[in-house]
Amino acid sequence: MNSNRTHIAIIGAGLAGLYAARLLQEQGMHDFVVLEARPRTGGRILSPAVPLASDSASVCFDLGPSWFWPEFQPALDELISALGLERFAQFESGDMLIEHSPHQPPMRRPGFRNSPTSMRLHGGMSALVETLAQSIPATQLLTGQLVTELTLNDVHVTVMTHDTQGATSAWQAKHVLLALPPRLAAEYLHFSPALPTSLLQQWRDTATWMAPHAKYFAIYERPFWREQGLSGEARSMQGPLGEIHDASLPDGPAALFGFLAMPASVRQQMNSETLHQLCRAQLTRIFGPQAGSPLAELSQDWSQEALTASHADQHPSPHHLTAPATCPADGPWQHHLCGIASEWSTQFPGYLAGAIDAAMCGVQWLQHLK
Ligand SMILES: Cc1cc2nc3c(=O)[nH]c(=O)nc-3n(C[C@H](O)[C@H](O)[C@H](O)COP(=O)(O)OP(=O)(O)OC[C@H]3O[C@@H](n4cnc5c(N)ncnc54)[C@H](O)[C@@H]3O)c2cc1C
Repeated sequence: MNSNRTHIAIIGAGLAGLYAARLLQEQGMHDFVVLEARPRTGGRILSPAVPLASDSASVCFDLGPSWFWPEFQPALDELISALGLERFAQFESGDMLIEHSPHQPPMRRPGFRNSPTSMRLHGGMSALVETLAQSIPATQLLTGQLVTELTLNDVHVTVMTHDTQGATSAWQAKHVLLALPPRLAAEYLHFSPALPTSLLQQWRDTATWMAPHAKYFAIYERPFWREQGLSGEARSMQGPLGEIHDASLPDGPAALFGFLAMPASVRQQMNSETLHQLCRAQLTRIFGPQAGSPLAELSQDWSQEALTASHADQHPSPHHLTAPATCPADGPWQHHLCGIASEWSTQFPGYLAGAIDAAMCGVQWLQHLK
């Protein structure tokens, strides 16, 4: 077994974990390690490069988050500017369509523009996490490391990880920042001594935002719906897509994307070809025959990602998120453990901006301990 030492162990390399690492570097606290179970960074942020033709460059579409709102999320917006990333507004000009029944043409209604404007990132949201990850030395950002156990002796926490080959490593850290959703931390990490029962229950009761959901993309050469004065936005009572938006790239191919309205349990019984076929048929009903021949299709079902969704996340939560406590109010773990994933943010729980807010609070907590 490998044995290592670090001052701070960050568990999870989604936006919260990577941003916490950046903040630590800015404060001159370079003795940290980020331990990530997936073979990639980004967590719920995923914008894979899609090659559309052998002679064209790859393009990226957001299978996880697409939007942020600079007007009321200034810290996230400042980070995006500092990293030199470019934003653009979600396309919302034109009418929207509403499908009540597959047997009737959709109703056309004046579209509405979100206020404040929803913004997207050039290169997809992955550009944000990839840029953050680039500034962390490879020896301090370890992927393929599933954390399973945290054991506290008087002064250190021993964090146990397992890699994909089954090799075990131990990291001795003074402090641990939990940058994975609270529900996953409560359900899958073993804490010794045990955390207070009421704290674990709060974490277990905190739904992982968007974990029950799935997205489908159809990519086209041009945004043909705009030529008919349509925004690409649609709502359907019929499904399989419930809410549809324009996902075109400003100087690239056009796309429509939708959130699947059918429950995770139903989706899980379908293969992706059947699901794509149903989505294509629905887009054809709503937007006409051109929608039936996309250049490519993509989908991502987050409910099937064990490192995002637990059993309890298979159904959308009826309640809006309330941030749980980040650390025990007393007891042996009090000065050793702090939750920093988005769900722990009191300002924007569940959102990208929440990951920024919670990471900032976690790093401030570390500074106060000094
Ligand atoms: C479909 C979808 C659409 C969304 N749309 C938006 C949007 O438009 N705007 C918005 O603001 N937000 C949106 N969100 C929410 C946004 O994606 C999240 O708020 C944000 O990405 C959370 O980042 P995080 O770092 O806190 O958590 P995560 O991204 O979940 O990162 C947690 C990390 O921990 C890792 N991990 C888990 N368990 C372990 C373990 N045992 N050991 C080691 N590592 C582990 C995971 O692999 C992951 O990399 C959306 C989410 C989804 C899924």
